[in-house]
Amino acid sequence: MKNQKSQASGIRKSKQRDVILEVLKRTRSHPTADWIYQEVRKSLPKISLGTVYRNLKLLKERGEILELHYGDGQSRFDGTPENHYHFNCQVCGRVYDVEEPLKKDMEKDLAKKLGFIVTHHRVEFYGFCTECREQASLLGKEAA
Ligand code: ZN
Ligand code: MN
Repeated sequence: MKNQKSQASGIRKSKQRDVILEVLKRTRSHPTADWIYQEVRKSLPKISLGTVYRNLKLLKERGEILELHYGDGQSRFDGTPENHYHFNCQVCGRVYDVEEPLKKDMEKDLAKKLGFIVTHHRVEFYGFCTECREQASLLGKEAA
């Protein structure tokens, strides 16, 4: 009897985590915590933003999701934890997955050259997406 309450809260917590993970797996938009919170509230209206943050941190620590930093404030989250590359549009701020084979050789070369152990690498491309490239060229930002 005395464990019933903590059991129920344990079930509720893992349910919250499942919903958050599901929301992230469903989108390829690399959303912010705020966006995830709004989505999760559709099925769990009582959840708090703090709970969403806490679960995102936990999921990240468990290697189930990625957190992406773009230096301009809010982190973005990714439901695909396997290493892959991203393109960040500097006009609309959208983050796209880049279907590019991983440069595993680079890791090996570097490890050999430096005598380090290289565990992984991250690649971020920056520029203007197809929807924004016109705007970018008007601003004279397009690369030669
Ligand atoms: Zn764009
Ligand atoms: Mn991604």
